[in-house]
Amino acid sequence: MQFIIPVGIVTAMGLLAGGILTIADKFMAVQMDETAAKVLAALPGANCGACGFAGCADYANALAKDEEHAIKANLCTPGGDAVAMEVSSILGVEFEGASSKIAIMKCSGSRDRTSYAMDYQGHQTCKANKLFFRGRGACEMACLGFGDCVNVCAYDAIRIENGLAVINKYKCVGCGLCAKACPNALIEIVPDKTRVVVGCSSVDPGKVTREICAIGCIACKLCEKTCKFDAIHVINNHAVIDYTKCKNCTACAKKCPTNVIHVFPRPVSAPQQKPKPVAAETAQVEAPAQ
Ligand code: SF4
Ligand code: SF4
Repeated sequence: MQFIIPVGIVTAMGLLAGGILTIADKFMAVQMDETAAKVLAALPGANCGACGFAGCADYANALAKDEEHAIKANLCTPGGDAVAMEVSSILGVEFEGASSKIAIMKCSGSRDRTSYAMDYQGHQTCKANKLFFRGRGACEMACLGFGDCVNVCAYDAIRIENGLAVINKYKCVGCGLCAKACPNALIEIVPDKTRVVVGCSSVDPGKVTREICAIGCIACKLCEKTCKFDAIHVINNHAVIDYTKCKNCTACAKKCPTNVIHVFPRPVSAPQQKPKPVAAETAQVEAPAQ
């Protein structure tokens, strides 16, 4: 019977706190502008920041306040054309079409192609491993494989396969959260018409890369000499494509002696509608191979 008094006190405190919160919610709530509320309802709710604002509500408020329409209505990459059209219609501005983006992976170093230089037993994140010397990879720019990128993707668009992050282009909406999470800056957000990708970011000289990775860029510059559009250059010991110049002609990929320039086919069965965000816990991380 002696538990009745403490239970009563806790219940009374809970009721009091609930009452205070209800009153605060009623009298102190920030009223949202009607237009902002409509825009917010049209946005996908990913809160990824791809629009350049702190989240969907921030973007919706900024659009609603912007009487000059200086802020574009098509900045929500995950929402694609459908959301851009709806937001444009709410704001009464011309629909310009959303700029579709996609993430690309600039490392091909799966476990059968390269190796780890240490048996790392510390905190199992890419960020922590990177702080431990220069990461566990034999190549310091290799994918660390703990899946920091996987954990932030709200669209279940990345998996770790054989120690390497692999992006599902049909699920990716180009929000860029994975790119921000990768301590080796291996993920880049590019226009979704991109078909040619250099799968390497090594900064080692070609001779070293040859020894530690079966597919790394060896900085031979054959791609650079082949490109008719001046769109690919060897910078810091690996080939880098300038996507403002690349015409997807694939000539560089055909010349590459290590096959590290990948050519992706045009999507034939891409969903018309971009996927909705999924709960973070449903995103999958496979245990990285040691
Ligand atoms: S893979 Fe996921 S986190 Fe990365 S850009 Fe695509 S949707 Fe965003
Ligand atoms: S690509 Fe993903 S798994 Fe690989 S190092 Fe970057 S954050 Fe980690």
